Amino acid sequence: MGTEVTITISDADMLRIARPYIDVIEELKDQNKRLLTDAKALVDESLRNENEDLKQRLSLSYGQFSSEKESKAFESFYKEHEKCRLNSKADAGRLPYVIPYGTGIGTCVTAVCPVCGEKREITDISTW
Ligand SMILES: [Zn+2]
Repeated sequence: MGTEVTITISDADMLRIARPYIDVIEELKDQNKRLLTDAKALVDESLRNENEDLKQRLSLSYGQFSSEKESKAFESFYKEHEKCRLNSKADAGRLPYVIPYGTGIGTCVTAVCPVCGEKREITDISTW
């Protein structure tokens, strides 16, 4: 049996020993808060840009749709396929797009999702 030695450390000493660690933890907390704020700002900005981009691409003056009906059809296709890219980090930037192609009687428009590959004919032939 050895002799038991009891060392008593005062609260003040304990605090002095722990101080550098506490400082590091506080600094990391601050850093984390700043990073989260920056990340949120980046996400907000990219969502804003994406919204602007979509709004522009849906407007008839942009020239890819010949009617409101086509524009609306693409908008719902776009919204249906939001989950495709949001479910995959690698594909987060790949937005649905349209392929217009001319025929003798008018322009056909196909909506394409680059992530899942679905294609949908959204031509409004009432404008022909
Ligand atoms: Zn898709």
